[in-house]
Amino acid sequence: MVMYNFSAGPAVLPREVLFQAQQELLDWQGTGMSVMEMSHRGKEFMGIAEAAQIDLRDLLAIPANYKVLFLQGGAHLQFAMVPLNLLRGKATADYVNTGEWSKKAIAEAGKFCKVNVVCSSADKNFSYIPPFDSWQRDSNAAYLHYTSNETIGGVEFNSIPAVGDVPLVADMSSNILSRVVDVAKYGVIYAGAQKNIGPAGLCIVIVREDLLGHALPNVPSMLNYKVHADNDSMYNTPPTYGIYIAGLVFKWLKHNGGVAAIEQTNIAKAAMLYSAIDGSNGFYNCPVARADRSCMNVAFTLQNASLDNAFLKQAEQQGLMQLKGHRSVGGMRASIYNAMPLAGVEALVSFMGEFARKVA
Ligand SMILES: *Cc1c(COP(=O)(O)O)cnc(C)c1O
Repeated sequence: MVMYNFSAGPAVLPREVLFQAQQELLDWQGTGMSVMEMSHRGKEFMGIAEAAQIDLRDLLAIPANYKVLFLQGGAHLQFAMVPLNLLRGKATADYVNTGEWSKKAIAEAGKFCKVNVVCSSADKNFSYIPPFDSWQRDSNAAYLHYTSNETIGGVEFNSIPAVGDVPLVADMSSNILSRVVDVAKYGVIYAGAQKNIGPAGLCIVIVREDLLGHALPNVPSMLNYKVHADNDSMYNTPPTYGIYIAGLVFKWLKHNGGVAAIEQTNIAKAAMLYSAIDGSNGFYNCPVARADRSCMNVAFTLQNASLDNAFLKQAEQQGLMQLKGHRSVGGMRASIYNAMPLAGVEALVSFMGEFARKVA
């Protein structure tokens, strides 16, 4: 039976990538070594890391005045590193609150500065994005932070907030590389790898060069973007195997037409799933406002929640795994990242139709 993994993260990786990693596990390209066993400063690994960086730059058309950092600590560490590096003498930062990940970023930033929450969708259980013209920004904010895709609520920004000269910071952990973005609009983009890039343990940070070198005094070296940038992400031992797998994923993405091509597939996958939900006569419901529905994490509930367990059990019997929603939303969540093939979504939609017919 074919299995499809709808986990929110760590999440599905392209089979071709896992297969290649398996082939190369014991002996990377005739070196007699696994990538895990190589010195990070040897020419083999330096080549792997450089290719990964070049391919990522290519995929996202990252301008030359941005550094790409391969760090550790996940997106959570970025919740602290962003204020530690970007306050630049200012006392306030603007934060958009659209869900669980926004809330975590806000709480962490609050240890280092005054957080001005420009808007919040808490009034409707984080099911929408407050319109830009309602945002209450602080004219002295050091930067504006938002979560481009709320992995738990299934809410995604479909346009980039226009913030003028204030550095824009985005947590793109769950939608980086899923759609075309204009990197030049951002001061910092960060993303934990385990949703759309590779294994957990690697975090990608893309930072505009003029924002380097302003960390708070006494900030630990490991939390200073400039230290990592000056050392090409090799200030300490980087997460070498994660970088290697990420590099394979970048090659896979390029081979499949790059970000613009995968974006079209992602739109088609999401449209298929949302229309199955909307066309179910209320058997399934998506709590998220139509315009703000995520292409990566599709949250939905069953009208009759007492059927949830039967739904999950029967889905698993058909190879449709990890569909249980987050406890804050309830119901189901299908994460359909880049590596989820169209056939996986087709199988899910077909199961959902059958299940609804059977119990109706
Ligand atoms: C998963 C996720 C995080 C947390 O990532 P860690 O690597 O566990 O720190 C943060 N933000 C978003 C949007 C996520 O999806």
